[in-house]
Amino acid sequence: MTLTAPFDNSYARLPSAFYTRLNPKPVQAPNLVAYNKQLGDMLGISGADRDEIAAVFSGVSVPEGADPLAQLYAGHQFGSFNPQLGDGRALLLGEVIASDGVRRDIQLKGSGPTPYSRMGDGRAWLGPVLREYIVSEAMHALGIPTTRALAAVRTGEDIIREAVLPGAVLTRVAKSHLRVGTFEVFAHRGQKEELQNLTDYAIKRHYPQANGPMDLLRAVCQAQADLVAKWMSVGFIHGVMNTDNCTISGETIDYGPCAFIDDFHADTVFSSIDQTGRYAYSNQPRIIVWNMAQLATSLLQLYDDPKTVLDEATEIVHAMPAQVEAAWLSEFAAKLGIANPKPEDAALISDLLNLMQQDGADFTNTFDALARGDAKDQFLDLDAYETWAKIWQARIATEDGPNAVMQAASPRIIPRNHRIEEMITAAVAGDDAPFERLLKALSDPYSTEDTDLMRPPTKAQRVPATFCGT
Ligand code: AMP
Ligand code: MG
Repeated sequence: MTLTAPFDNSYARLPSAFYTRLNPKPVQAPNLVAYNKQLGDMLGISGADRDEIAAVFSGVSVPEGADPLAQLYAGHQFGSFNPQLGDGRALLLGEVIASDGVRRDIQLKGSGPTPYSRMGDGRAWLGPVLREYIVSEAMHALGIPTTRALAAVRTGEDIIREAVLPGAVLTRVAKSHLRVGTFEVFAHRGQKEELQNLTDYAIKRHYPQANGPMDLLRAVCQAQADLVAKWMSVGFIHGVMNTDNCTISGETIDYGPCAFIDDFHADTVFSSIDQTGRYAYSNQPRIIVWNMAQLATSLLQLYDDPKTVLDEATEIVHAMPAQVEAAWLSEFAAKLGIANPKPEDAALISDLLNLMQQDGADFTNTFDALARGDAKDQFLDLDAYETWAKIWQARIATEDGPNAVMQAASPRIIPRNHRIEEMITAAVAGDDAPFERLLKALSDPYSTEDTDLMRPPTKAQRVPATFCGT
């Protein structure tokens, strides 16, 4: 049977300076691990059996209407500019207009080398592929804008990393793969025509109401402020918020060394390569402003005399901390049962987070317990908790149905690191049951009854560091 999809590839119609056209490098023995049928249906994919799905989403066969290409971009990595990155192990197969009317990219990750691979092999191993599958689908179920996972396929090939590991290809779906770094590459090269073309494309695709580059900047800043506040509200640490991993659409992208906090500490860092804590949990609201400043700088290159818009661009970026703060307040207030927060509620939230940090309370379980009435089991200093809880109770006494608000704002289950590691170890040994179990429980994060998966890691189960997906 032949897989069909209603491809309509707008990126491939842009000038060739934006990408390199190229087919995926076929793999030896494609074997399907997972296919997200609900998402596939939404994208209009049909007609395929398991083998055909495995063949297409491992790059062995290219479906009719696809126009595979590697996208060019640059980016600031840990603060330093890298003038050329690009899809080094990914290919955009093409785009479809999904059943919700939104255009979406279908991208293979791990599909072989491209002109942007630098020293890399263009491949991915099973661990990061399944991690991204689970975490991106969990984020989606949590209502957080994100790329999604359509398929994961074992390639039957060995990948050489720190050990010999099984290869895999992930197919991900995004509103687009435009990044801050896509703007940076043309701005840095002084390619004004391409930069203008890209700006027009981004506006048309994502923010059709935006009137010009500064309006685009304003829209991206708002989308990213909202996104980071949502990350904070579930204890998510992206781990590698480089500008090439920061989308224009406002979706979360690139689940390399990401992780969720177990016991709360604001300065938590998991990524093994983030030695200075640049992308620590508590730094995310600041880093997103830094990233938006890079987008602003790139957009200024569009103007013959950038001084004419410098004040406006500065004002937009400088407004961002307050936007993140407002979004943060609204997310966290809901977790305490407050639907319409007042500025002074920020202190109530911070006091709780400080107590949690002091006592090493589990982030997810504390808010889940509060949503169910009482979180004293999560604390050591009971006097301090009771004092805080009295003030909190008094504050929500006049709120309408605070428990329902809280339960809708605080998941019972998140993809905990130790569970992900356990799932990867099992999958490498050929057992996909833990993957299936996680996927199922995380699809229903607000009411799951899989209490075993709600449990924080024991000392022995703790995962101290996460590694990039390369
Ligand atoms: P990431 O850390 O995944 O955001 O990737 C940063 C850059 O390195 C991107 O340009 C990737 O395409 C590239 N890259 C990462 N892993 C590989 C690989 N195995 N082969 C080729 N390029 C890679
Ligand atoms: Mg990346």
